[in-house]
Amino acid sequence: MKKQSKLFLKNNPTIKDFQQYVLDLEKERDFNQEIFENCLQMGEEVGELFKAIRKNINMSIDSNSKISSVEEELVDVLIFVLAIANRFNIDLEKAFREKEEINKKRVWKKNK
Ligand SMILES: [Mg+2]
Repeated sequence: MKKQSKLFLKNNPTIKDFQQYVLDLEKERDFNQEIFENCLQMGEEVGELFKAIRKNINMSIDSNSKISSVEEELVDVLIFVLAIANRFNIDLEKAFREKEEINKKRVWKKNK
C-alpha cells in the first residue's frame, strides 16, 4: 500500500520554505543526499528540460522518448538546485540578492 505523503508547501512560500520542503522530501523519499549524486541528477534533469524544450519548439526528437512538459522539467531542475544549496548550507535568497548586486554592476553588451 502506498504511504500517504506528509509533505506540504505553504501558500506564498519563501525560497527558504522551498529549501526546507526539499529537505523533507529527501527524508520522506529516502533520497541520497550526496552532493556528487545530486549534481549528476541535476545534469540529467537539465537534459530532460532541454529535450522538453526541443519538443515544445517542434524540433525532431526520438519518437520513443518519454518526454514531460517544460514546466515539469523546470521543477525537477529546481529541486536539485535547492538540494545542492542545502548540501552547502546556502541561504539561496541571500545568495541571490548578493549575486544580483554584483550582476547589476556588470556591463552587459551584445557582440555585433
Ligand atoms: Mg525530469
